[in-house]
Amino acid sequence: MTPANHLPRIVLLGTGGTIAATAHTTTQLTDYTVTEGVHSLLEAVPGLRKLAHIQSQQVFNIDSRAMSSAMLLKLAQHINEVLTRDDVDAVVITHGTDTLEETACFLHWTIKSSKPVILTAAMRPASAYSADGSMNLYHAMLTACHPQSVGQGVLVVLNDQIHSARFLTKQHTSRVDAFASPDAGPLGQIANGQLRFLVHSVLPHTTQSEFDVRLQHELPRVLILFDHPDACPEAMRNAAQNGVSGFIIAATGNGSITPGSQQGIEIVSRMGVRCVRASRIGVGSVSTSSHDEALGLIAAQWLPAIKARILLQLALTHTNEPQALRQIFNRY
Ligand code: ASP
Repeated sequence: MTPANHLPRIVLLGTGGTIAATAHTTTQLTDYTVTEGVHSLLEAVPGLRKLAHIQSQQVFNIDSRAMSSAMLLKLAQHINEVLTRDDVDAVVITHGTDTLEETACFLHWTIKSSKPVILTAAMRPASAYSADGSMNLYHAMLTACHPQSVGQGVLVVLNDQIHSARFLTKQHTSRVDAFASPDAGPLGQIANGQLRFLVHSVLPHTTQSEFDVRLQHELPRVLILFDHPDACPEAMRNAAQNGVSGFIIAATGNGSITPGSQQGIEIVSRMGVRCVRASRIGVGSVSTSSHDEALGLIAAQWLPAIKARILLQLALTHTNEPQALRQIFNRY
C-alpha cells in the first residue's frame, strides 16, 4: 500500500454527527449540538498520528438527518476525486449514526476505487462520560491502515466491530452497541488494538458496481412508505404528481401489501412510477411473488427498506424497466 517504512496517507473527512457534538453536561445524551470540527476530533486522539499521515477536511458539519441526496452526491464525488490521488491510500469519514446506513450504502455502490473507505460515528456526544467517538475513530483509522481492508468496499467501524456497508443497520436508539449486520454478522473485529477480518462479502460494490455518479447532478426522488392497514392511496398519487419517481413499500411480513397501498401502487404504476416491495420488519428477504408482474412490482429481495431506497435511486438513473430493476435487486 505504501513504500516501506512509511505510514499510510489518509484523508479524514468530517461530516458532523454526534461524534462531533457536545452537550451542556457530561450526562446529557440528547439535545446536543454539532460544535466540533474534524480537526479537533483529530487533535483529541493524538494516537492517530502514530498510525498514519493524516490530512483532515471538513465536507459538512451537520446532524446526519439532514444528509440529502444532493449532499450524498457531493460526498461521493469528493471521495472519488480524493482517491484518484497517488498520495492518498485511504479515506476515513466521520458521520452521524442516524443516516449512517444510507451514506454507507450509497458510497459502497458508487465509489470507484478499491482503496479503503471507512466510516465511523458515535452514539454519545464528545462531552459525555464514556464517549465512544475517540475509540471508534482510532479503530476506523486502524482499519483504514490495514492491508486487508483494500477491496472490501465501504466499511463501517463502531463498537469494536467492522461491518460491511451492505449489511449494517442501526437497531437501537441510544446504546453504544446500536449497530449490527443481522443478515451476515460483522466482517471483522478489533480487540486491544488487534484487528482481525473474519469473512468478506461477495456482493458487488465499488469497482464492480455499475453505478457511477461522478458526473451525476441529481438523483431521482424515491420515498419509503411504511405500510399499515388504512394506508392512503391518495398520498402516493400526490407524491407521484409532485415528481416522485419511485416508492419503497415497507410492506407487512414477507412484503405483503395492504389494500390501501395496493390501490396506490395501481395508480402510480400507470404513471410510470416504480414500486419496490420491501418489509417493515427489517430483517430477512422479501421473495418474488407471482403477483409482481401485473403491477410492475419489484421485490427488494435481501435489502431492507432503507438500503432499497438508495439502490432504487441509483438503479433509476439507468433504467425504468421493471425486469431490469428486478435483476439489479437480485444482484445487490
Ligand atoms: N442525530 C445524530 C446524527 O445522526 C445521531 C448520532 O450521530 O448518533 O447526526
